[in-house]
Amino acid sequence: MLDKQELSDLIVAGLPVALFVVDENHNVVEFNPAAEQITGRKRSEVLGRNCAEVFSSSLCENDCPLRESEKTGAPCLGREAFIRVREDEELPIIFSSRAILDDSGQLICGIEVFRDATDVHQLEAHKRNLISLFTHDLKAPVAIIGGFVDRLVDEKAGPLNEKQSSYLETIHKEISRLEQYIFSFLDIARIESGQIELQLSPCDLGELLTEIVTGFEVQAAKKNIELHLDPSQLSGPVILDRLQISRVISNLLDNAIKYSHENSIVKLSLREDRNQVILEIQDQGPGISVQDQAQIFSHFYRIDDERRAVQGSGLGLAAVKAIVEAHSGRVWMRSTPGKGSSFFISLPKTD
Ligand code: ADP
Repeated sequence: MLDKQELSDLIVAGLPVALFVVDENHNVVEFNPAAEQITGRKRSEVLGRNCAEVFSSSLCENDCPLRESEKTGAPCLGREAFIRVREDEELPIIFSSRAILDDSGQLICGIEVFRDATDVHQLEAHKRNLISLFTHDLKAPVAIIGGFVDRLVDEKAGPLNEKQSSYLETIHKEISRLEQYIFSFLDIARIESGQIELQLSPCDLGELLTEIVTGFEVQAAKKNIELHLDPSQLSGPVILDRLQISRVISNLLDNAIKYSHENSIVKLSLREDRNQVILEIQDQGPGISVQDQAQIFSHFYRIDDERRAVQGSGLGLAAVKAIVEAHSGRVWMRSTPGKGSSFFISLPKTD
């Protein structure tokens, strides 16, 4: 008969997912065989070392799921990240963290489980390719239909009665919307595949943000939403593509206003952290559940609730991600359902 310790050792060793455990200082105290296999790192070389130093995950600096779990007391599930597995080799993983806290809220240890997400990435790329091909093929017929509808509307094929005019107006509006989707999608696909070259130049990001916020004041006022812009804490310009980053900020701010309740506040702030600039857009809207957070940056993803009544394409956040990543930056979010969301982008700052 196995004692408790032997049984738990067996479970850890036999777990079909990678597991590591860190102590209160985030130093690794357990690293199971599945973790060894996925990362190619030996247990003995990892034990006792700080997990951020070992894995240099893309989430370590600003978005550590364990710290988040420490703060919320809830597990942080299904995060996607890249970790360093061998010299200069990065591996996509999906992982979940849980902070175990004592009665005073202090961290006792952190449990992290993860799995290799290469298959998910390949599937995503395959899906993108398929949609890309399909969308590309849709472009020509939709343009032709649009052209003929225009002619009908202009009565080039004879006079229209009131009912015909009204039906055609609806068809015309929907075709324009479809064309907009097609162009947006193809545009994102081009950014993702590096076919659009960024027009990089030094930019005063604080000034750009003020400009964009001013442009959204009328839209915000319609819902009595207060736009609160913290003074920029940046010390100098950032090298970026002004037009594309304007799109990023506008998409995020548009969402914050679109999905927020009336009489609420949307806060924007810019700060510097080591060699990067971080923009945060915080709202007091409906928030986003953990399940939706995992997919929110995917193409065409829209949350299936009353938010669907708000017009949108599900492409805004995919564009944000594609543009920010093309700048070697990162995008992430935090949200408490029912209380609001914060979207963050980080951009590298070179002097
Ligand atoms: P769109 O707004 O055009 O639908 P996005 O890609 O910008 O597409 O956003 C995807 C979905 O994420 C939205 O449909 C909405 O359900 C949700 N969402 C985005 N931003 C917010 C936000 N700030 N608060 C709540 N839900 C949001």
